[in-house]
Amino acid sequence: MSLPFQNRRRALSKRLEASRLDCLLVGHAPNWFYFTGFTGDAGLLVVSRSGATLVTDGRFNVQAKQETSGTRIVVQKVTLFEAAGQFLREAGFRRIGFDPTQLTVAQLKVVKRAAGKRCQWIPAPGMVEALRMCKEPVEIALMRKAAVLAGEILEGVLSLLMPGVRESEVAAEIEYQMRKRGAEGPSFPSIVAFGERSALPHARPTAKRLGKNELVVLDLGVILGHYCSDMTRTVYAGRAPERVRRWYAAVLEAEQAAIAAVRAGATCGEVDAAARGVLAGHRLERYFVHSTGHGLGLEVHEEPRVARGQKHQLESGNVITIEPGVYVPGVGGIRIEDDVAVHADRSEVLTRVPRDLIEL
Ligand code: ZN
Ligand code: ZN
Repeated sequence: MSLPFQNRRRALSKRLEASRLDCLLVGHAPNWFYFTGFTGDAGLLVVSRSGATLVTDGRFNVQAKQETSGTRIVVQKVTLFEAAGQFLREAGFRRIGFDPTQLTVAQLKVVKRAAGKRCQWIPAPGMVEALRMCKEPVEIALMRKAAVLAGEILEGVLSLLMPGVRESEVAAEIEYQMRKRGAEGPSFPSIVAFGERSALPHARPTAKRLGKNELVVLDLGVILGHYCSDMTRTVYAGRAPERVRRWYAAVLEAEQAAIAAVRAGATCGEVDAAARGVLAGHRLERYFVHSTGHGLGLEVHEEPRVARGQKHQLESGNVITIEPGVYVPGVGGIRIEDDVAVHADRSEVLTRVPRDLIEL
């Protein structure tokens, strides 16, 4: 599946025109990939109304030529930011947009000095992220595959959850299966948390062994065809006691309410409130310590944020996670997470794993 790099550059060009910018400095790897297909990890892309130029170093010259088309490659002879500044000066660009959240003070100083005094530097935060937020059908097709693969891997490791297995062993198997089954890798370090550790929303796998009657949180995602998935299931090693069943049912109800609230036109704040409202109804809101979800795409966390009060109105092409949870310190946590794409007239859950409580 080929990605429409040229259309994306054209879409940015229109935005540059509207903001009266000659060009935008793109210094974030997922963003230069978005416009060119270049997967190298060092460079700076300049997208102007007339074309795109990638400044990179000698290590990436061949790769950049192979991966991109319609993009000029400049191999730096001085430092990256000096070279980019020299290019901007030679190209005669005057009004240069940059994202202040993606450039350090030191980098900006160097590039400004090299570009010369005649340039005006205009902060343009989030310009590329706004474009990336609306996925094309080809991107959603890739994300569907990434979501399905994550689900298959998650279901595949359930059989490992026997008493005595270590969190790190399960995580290793998860990430081995990802590579083996064609993924570029995990979209974030997989979370495998047993017992009390499941109450830590971002637990890193340890040598802890699975005991009897413990909660298990598995949160994982793959990068497949450059796009990320991210999903969570919680299982119980043993027969779940009454309070765990109650918490699980509440989290599931919250997740379903939030998924039902996902539609074009709804705000992210409304989706968050749908989940939070259900948990409040069960007097569990204080145990829900993070936001309901986040955008997903080339990066595992991107725009839009699905959090309290967020005004962004969902539109066709947005892909978000829905992941309410309940974390009771000293006892354990429960989270259920799925990936949801917004279409004009409906929403689509991309992840395909049943959500009922699994007792092993
Ligand atoms: Zn996750
Ligand atoms: Zn997530």
